[in-house]
Amino acid sequence: MRNVSTIIDGKRVITKKPELLAPAGNLEKLKVAIMYGADAVFVGGKEFSLRSLASNFTLEDIKEAVEFANLYHAKIHVTCNIILHEENLEGIREYLKALDEIGVAAIIVADPYIMLLAKQLHLSLQVHVSTQLSSTNAEAIRFWQKQGLERVVLGREVDYQDLKAIMAETDIEVEYFIHGALCISYSGRCMLSNYYSRRDANRGGCSQSCRWYYDIYKGDRKINTDEDIPFSMSSKDLSLVDHIGELIELGVDSFKIEGRMKSLHYIATVVSTYRKLIDTYCADPDHFEYDPKYMTELNKAANRALTLGFYNQKPSQNDQLFNLRDEHPTQEFCMRVLHYNPVTQLAKIEQRNYFKLGDVVEFFSPDRDNFKMVVRELYNEDMEKIEVANHPMEVLYVKVEGLVKKDDMARKVGK
Ligand code: SF4
Repeated sequence: MRNVSTIIDGKRVITKKPELLAPAGNLEKLKVAIMYGADAVFVGGKEFSLRSLASNFTLEDIKEAVEFANLYHAKIHVTCNIILHEENLEGIREYLKALDEIGVAAIIVADPYIMLLAKQLHLSLQVHVSTQLSSTNAEAIRFWQKQGLERVVLGREVDYQDLKAIMAETDIEVEYFIHGALCISYSGRCMLSNYYSRRDANRGGCSQSCRWYYDIYKGDRKINTDEDIPFSMSSKDLSLVDHIGELIELGVDSFKIEGRMKSLHYIATVVSTYRKLIDTYCADPDHFEYDPKYMTELNKAANRALTLGFYNQKPSQNDQLFNLRDEHPTQEFCMRVLHYNPVTQLAKIEQRNYFKLGDVVEFFSPDRDNFKMVVRELYNEDMEKIEVANHPMEVLYVKVEGLVKKDDMARKVGK
């Protein structure tokens, strides 16, 4: 078992805190992820990455990302995890060298040629084995270690008992998914999207065909009626929020949040919730008591019901959304604070979704407790009183009696 704690002055403290690894689909999300507590962020390059629709980063963007991350001692990982075809080979050598020169900490790789090339080029960056390769046992992980790779991102299908065995029997870095969407198929092995829409899920083009509505046939006879709830194969989303302590005790090196396509509100909410939870646990693990407020907070950004996935047992029909998509709107992200004047109590904000006088909003921040207030005073940039904020990205002023600061956010929670 990996050693994660030590006794200092009679109290056990965690000495091996896991990395909190967040997704980002653009620079704005990346900066928010880091400000809200991510130790590292993974992004997709314009080339050689899955999630080709996830507003991927140019080399210039990656450079800016690394410079920003350095200010917070955070790291940038870049996914280079497409399955390479002959037509994709051109430029890969130069691309890897450029990532290394920029200061990228790691690349996440699925294709053996990219692994080989990264090692032949003697790059400083780490090479991480993508979850696309479905590494689910200690022998497979030892294989990757023998190839000189530094970390394995486990398959989402690894349960707690197998994870425990892997952590006990290997000493390579291990990354484990703690939150985000799950595939209904074995991750990295799905052809539904390729079949239905000719968009290759394993080359970044998944059209989420599993979440479509389907008619059900027995032979040639359709057996569902138009009145039936539509049939879908969608999975609930993963959340291990109430198992974080035991994952820290196992010595898991990196906790991964999925969702490069997700919103700014999602990234801020999910990252800050896990940040606070990990820090609270690590400060005093022997007196830690799980507080359901963490789950309450995550649910504000979840648009599907949550599940433990494979963590405790094979998922049952209760972990899936066979007959109902069960997607619900998240609470609406309505403003981002640009500046706060504690004397006038006016917050300069950027509008992100419609809100108006009388709405109840909840402010949240990376390092303070949330608080709610009713919007009672609202001004435009010329300090004229207005009643509604209905222009996206408009700069406005709101009277806020609690303390807020730049980059805090607010969500609409009621009227
Ligand atoms: S179609 Fe569904 S199961 Fe298949 S890769 Fe896409 S999200 Fe995963």
